Amino acid sequence: MLLYCIMNFTPKFAVDKMLGKLAKWLRLLGYDTFYRNKIKPATLLSIAQSDDRIIVTRNHYFLKHPFPVPILFLKANALEQQLLRVNEQYPLQRKKAFSRCPLCNNVTTSIEKEYVERLVPEYVFNTQEHFHQCIRCGKIYWNGTHLQKALAFLEKIGL
Ligand SMILES: [Zn+2]
Repeated sequence: MLLYCIMNFTPKFAVDKMLGKLAKWLRLLGYDTFYRNKIKPATLLSIAQSDDRIIVTRNHYFLKHPFPVPILFLKANALEQQLLRVNEQYPLQRKKAFSRCPLCNNVTTSIEKEYVERLVPEYVFNTQEHFHQCIRCGKIYWNGTHLQKALAFLEKIGL
């Protein structure tokens, strides 16, 4: 049974304030990722603890004591290296990529084209057929150049 649990374990992250880019990318990959750009280590810790999240940080504060939650300390400054390090510890899967809003961490759902006409640029409306919308902040996503760039990046680093 333990093995069963491990295999179905989908990590949730609490990413420290200096790692905003990484947080956005974990969300792009579909991982539930808490992030605030202004937060004290103690607050991050209590959020991670109450919500079963893994803290991902570069703050040495988290190296000083034993903590009651898993801590992944990153040495690398570059996003690419950071993603690879997370992947090493918690193998990242792409199957849920682009199912979560990189801005607010809520899930997205597909939305009929007819509803987005006034919400996206005319060019986008005329050239795209499939749209997703964040259930919380309402942002609309489509298969545009940003998504293509993101996919190319993931490919490049071997995820
Ligand atoms: Zn959102």
